[in-house]
Amino acid sequence: MSADTGWDEAAAAPNAVAAPDPAGFSHPDTLAVLAGRRIGGAELAPSLYPSTTFRIASLEEGRRMALDPAESHYYTRNGNPTVAAFEEAMAELEGAEASRAFASGMGAVSCVILGLCSAGDHIVAQRQLYSGTQFLLQAVCPRFGIDVTFVDGTEPGAFQAAVRPGRTMLVFAETPANPRLDLVDLEELGAISGPLTAVDATFAPPSITRPLDYGVDLSLHSATKGLGGHNDATLGVVSGSAELIASLWGFAILQGANAAPFDAMNGLRGLRTLGVRLERQSATAQRLAETLSDHPGVESVRYPGLASHPQHELAKRQMRMFGGLLAFDLVSGHEAGERFVEAVKLAQIATSLGGPETLVTHSASTTHAGLTPDELDAAGIGPGTIRVSVGLEHGDDVVADLLHAADKATA
Ligand SMILES: *Cc1c(COP(=O)(O)O)cnc(C)c1O
Repeated sequence: MSADTGWDEAAAAPNAVAAPDPAGFSHPDTLAVLAGRRIGGAELAPSLYPSTTFRIASLEEGRRMALDPAESHYYTRNGNPTVAAFEEAMAELEGAEASRAFASGMGAVSCVILGLCSAGDHIVAQRQLYSGTQFLLQAVCPRFGIDVTFVDGTEPGAFQAAVRPGRTMLVFAETPANPRLDLVDLEELGAISGPLTAVDATFAPPSITRPLDYGVDLSLHSATKGLGGHNDATLGVVSGSAELIASLWGFAILQGANAAPFDAMNGLRGLRTLGVRLERQSATAQRLAETLSDHPGVESVRYPGLASHPQHELAKRQMRMFGGLLAFDLVSGHEAGERFVEAVKLAQIATSLGGPETLVTHSASTTHAGLTPDELDAAGIGPGTIRVSVGLEHGDDVVADLLHAADKATA
């Protein structure tokens, strides 16, 4: 009790009971449950701090706060307690010193690329990339005088060979990559010296792969997908050394793509179940991939957990589980693809991935509808390519639904 105001400080903070220390544990599934609990009190669920601004004790304190990348109680575009709890959880999960959350995966991708590179710099990126990242590198970077070389990310040594010593600022990779689940060898990527290395690991959250363990400098995620996992948070995150994250922060506060506290709260809530969700999705995806491989109407199935995946050995080395994403080609092409998505009953037709609902997309008539047959081919998309994001429904039902649709599409 403070005598002058009558304000009872003990009553204002009645719940300062320490959370378990995540530092004593190393399995990402355990960290996903324990991490990000330093901010707040004894509550188990994340707290929402919608406040855009916070009282400052003195002008001197305000000046310090304004310049501190780790400050979460100054102004929400710079930092926010709910967002900081999500960031702290992600840093612990990724084995990183620090993380910065963004308003979307593209917020994270654009901050890494435009925050680190200047006119005259050179980027090496792989050809197999999320379409937004691809457009940013191909159409926006040249406007700012940033040169980009695209390489085949599955070819050994390709990234290193394209590095221009003294000019290449960034090597940007994605694994597993859109849309055909191609993999990048993270050990090889982590061994590149000179430029910074960044990996978009959206398809492989930390329970599956932790890029920083391989010496990569920055790990990126669209947490809109599997990390958040419930289709209710548009969110991105970048993790790495405290120094690199602080330097990105300098651009991020000007870019203005800061994560909203509500999305960070949903993202943190989603993280708690990351391990079991990925286990269920991976188990169902493996069954589905094997069953579809035997279907006469299916030409080929791409899934890192299949022995037929050209990089299955690499997948076994760098993925704890093989994830919920798979792609397959129907033998009879475009019409069969359309018939397939029209025939599913349990699966839903929608973009995005990593949520509770099984989603299917026929790329050639939706996400990539504007491309010519040649462009589709270059993007690794066939006329009958279907992408599946396996959800949390029972595996028996998911497999039965998609098999039934494959029967109807190719009968
Ligand atoms: C979805 C996605 C993004 C972009 O994330 P948003 O949250 O939609 O901005 C980036 N990379 C990959 C691999 C994605 O799947």
